[in-house]
Order: sequence, then C-alpha cells, then structure tokens
Amino acid sequence: MTVLNVKDIYQDLHQIPEVGFQEFKTSAYLADALEKIGYKVTRNVGGTGVIGEIKGSEPGPVLMLRADMDALPFVINGEHKNIHACGHDSHCSMVLTAASELYGKIKRGTLRILFQQGEEVLNGALSIIKTGAIEDVDIMLGLHIRPIQDIPYGTLSPAVKHSSSTFAKVVVKGQNCHGSRPHLGVNAIEAAAAIITSVAAIKINPNIAWSCKPTIIKGGGVATNIIPDTAEVTFDIRSQTNEDMTLLLDKLRCVAENVAAAYGAAAEVILPDSIIPAAMLDEELTAEAAECIKEVVGEDKLAPELNNPGGEDFHYYAKTYPKLKSAYIGVGVGAEPGLHDPNMHFNTDGLQNGVDFLVKMTLKKLG
Ligand SMILES: [Zn+2]
Ligand SMILES: [Zn+2]
Repeated sequence: MTVLNVKDIYQDLHQIPEVGFQEFKTSAYLADALEKIGYKVTRNVGGTGVIGEIKGSEPGPVLMLRADMDALPFVINGEHKNIHACGHDSHCSMVLTAASELYGKIKRGTLRILFQQGEEVLNGALSIIKTGAIEDVDIMLGLHIRPIQDIPYGTLSPAVKHSSSTFAKVVVKGQNCHGSRPHLGVNAIEAAAAIITSVAAIKINPNIAWSCKPTIIKGGGVATNIIPDTAEVTFDIRSQTNEDMTLLLDKLRCVAENVAAAYGAAAEVILPDSIIPAAMLDEELTAEAAECIKEVVGEDKLAPELNNPGGEDFHYYAKTYPKLKSAYIGVGVGAEPGLHDPNMHFNTDGLQNGVDFLVKMTLKKLG
C-alpha cells in the first residue's frame, strides 16, 4: 500500500467542484480511492456521502475522521460556476491522505472515515445522522482550513468554536386601504420598519458574541397608492452558545409580536426546521489535540482556540449524540482573501500539517 500525496489529491479534487448533494464525481473519486487502499466502503450514505472503515484486532473506540465535500455556486460574468472557495477539497485531501497513512496501523477499535455531502447547504450532517452511521461513534475529529485573518500559515488551532446560526422570517400582516386614507388601514411596512428598529435594541450578555440583523425585506410593490397589508423581514441570527440562541429567538418573537400589535398589525416569526447548533467540542479531547499539535508542528505553531461567528453542520453530530466526543481543528494555510471568495487561494504546502495531526491523533486512540 502506498501512502497518498495530499497535494496530488487536492489537485484532482479541485478540478471537480460540485455543490451540496451533487458531489457525484467527488464521492466516486474518494470511495474508489478508499477501496483501493483496502477500506470497506459504503457509498451513497444519506445521498452522496461516503464511509470507509477498517478495524483493529483488539476492542477499542470507534473514531471517525470527517471531511466535507461540497463546493460553492457562483455567477461570474453571467456564467454559473462551482468553485471550491471554502476549501472542502483540501479537507477531503487531508482525510484521504491520513486514511492511506493509517491503513495497517490500527491495532484496536475502529477507524471510520466520513466524506460528508452538503455542508454549505447545512443539512448534509443531518442526512448522515438519519442513516444511523454515527450512532456508535465515540470520537469524531473534523478540520477546516483557516483564512489568513484567523491564524498564520503553518500553525494549527486545537478548536474552531463555531456559532449557532439560523434565520427567522417575520411576516407582518396589516390591512389594505386607499393611500389617501391611511387611517382606515394598517400599514404593514411601517410595522415592519418599527420591528427592525426595535430588534436593534435587543440586549444579550455582552460577553457572548451574537448578532441579529435584517438581511431581506419585502413589502408592498403592488401599487403606489395602496397601503400595503403584508411585509416580510428576514433576520440572520448568530450566537456563540445554544442557550443564548434560544434567548435571542424568544426576544425576537416578543419584539416582533408586540411591536406589530402596537401598530394594529400581527406578526408571525417563522424559523427553519432545525437551527445550526453552536460548537459542542469536548474539552478533554481539545486539550489532547493541543498537545498533539505541539508534537506535530512544535509549540510555537500552536495557534489559539478560535471563536467563529460562522456555522458548521459538524456540530449536529455531538448535539444529536451527547456521548460523542468531538474536536475540530483549524489548519493555517494562509487562505486569502477569505473563505467564500471566488478567488480564495492558499499555500497547499500547509496541508501536510493537517494530515500529520490526524494520523498522530488517531494513533493515540487506536494505535
Ligand atoms: Zn463554507
Ligand atoms: Zn467550509
């Protein structure tokens, strides 16, 4: 068995960017590669997901290495184009290369590799969970390349603490009437505007990072001389903790309903089926990861833990299975100008650090 080269894998995957749940070529490439190494492979897990597994001869924990596979859609000069602007191709490359290095070295327990679909659309993890593939997992390691603004090139962070994130659509219902007689109706746009202003006055513990701001507004538009009876405001909402997300949504609901009532309107707050949970990383495992990073790249390359206002569907795993211990590593590769920028680029020499970390950490548990 030959150990794969992370940069070669990256170059291959970078040529076939596919969006969430459409990762047909990517998942076939990864499944074929795992099979060739010698892994027992399951394809089409919850859609396009891929799982590979090898077992040691002695009993031990089930450890999963998870990488996301999907790219992002862009329209550039009028042309639709998928681009790996979040670096998920690099995550698959690091995990696949680590899988090739680990083959034949697992003494106890089970090493399970997960290539997960649809992270950017934020329901890939949920579709994997529905298949039952995570039920017996004891330890899960995830990782993401970091932009230059987060940590320097060549460093590794032992924890990327993503925020809980969601959106809320506030639908305001008023009453139509003639523009010349506004007192006979209820202007839904005025009520919506008042809701936006009042939401800005919500207060949450300032020690917690959070935000709640309007990102879409719709209303009226039928005629210039009719008082509009409906308006919709969508808020993008983030919170560092799951508890404060609950509090924030309660306050938003209270503001929307009561401010609308003050205008004689009614407001309904509509949330998506599931809210992306904040990071629920295991402290002990994170401390072990920090020690492992020191061994792999040296103490001077150990970056601090990162608070991240972005969401990651990885945290559904620990939220669904509280016994699952998870850690999530940040890999400093000097990504610029930033993630989700179509021109995002980075130094692929930095990927080997991620591979080395995954291999060493896995062998501490299963070697
Ligand atoms: Zn992303
Ligand atoms: Zn990403």
